[in-house]
Amino acid sequence: MEQIEGQIDRVRDWAQGLPAELPVFIVSGNHDTFSLHPLLQEARWLKTLKRPNVFIDGDAAELGGFLVECVGWGRVPVTNSALPRIVVCHCPPALSLAGTDHLGGDLGDLELAEHLLKASTMTWLILSGHVHEPKRWHDAGRFTCLNPGVRLDVAVPNHIVIDTNASTITRFGDGRQQTVPLKKCHLWCSTAQTLASGSS
Ligand SMILES: [Zn+2]
Repeated sequence: MEQIEGQIDRVRDWAQGLPAELPVFIVSGNHDTFSLHPLLQEARWLKTLKRPNVFIDGDAAELGGFLVECVGWGRVPVTNSALPRIVVCHCPPALSLAGTDHLGGDLGDLELAEHLLKASTMTWLILSGHVHEPKRWHDAGRFTCLNPGVRLDVAVPNHIVIDTNASTITRFGDGRQQTVPLKKCHLWCSTAQTLASGSS
């Protein structure tokens, strides 16, 4: 297996090759925080990617009228803003179909779910991964959460494109693509209603 330093170099080269004006949000996952290696303690290696327009664990930035927050592995969001919030985190919240695997096991983050349900700041959208074969890649239930899933045997990794001009969300994965409408108000209201009913 490739050494950790080599993997970090490859990711850093990829990040440095991106256009400087392109905002990039990167968060740590469960494989970035093994304490046995000094670069993986507290996902320290992520700091080597820092430059303007590259945001990592603990960072938040305004983008297109939203506040985008990078939440590292094992953490919860900390921002408090009047702007609708987009949370980027590796693990989806528990109680979401994006965090439930195809066999029905809830692999989501319970602490994150509890935090989001109690938080005074509304989270409009959660961008996540971790669960390789989620029951749903697009979940607009208790939380509005996207998870493209993982396929290791394909040249282009699973990914999701949110097109705010066309108002669509498209998942590219498993050799096909699927598009659903991006309904900002609908998603916002459905989340708000769920939170309201959850607190009663
Ligand atoms: Zn993971």
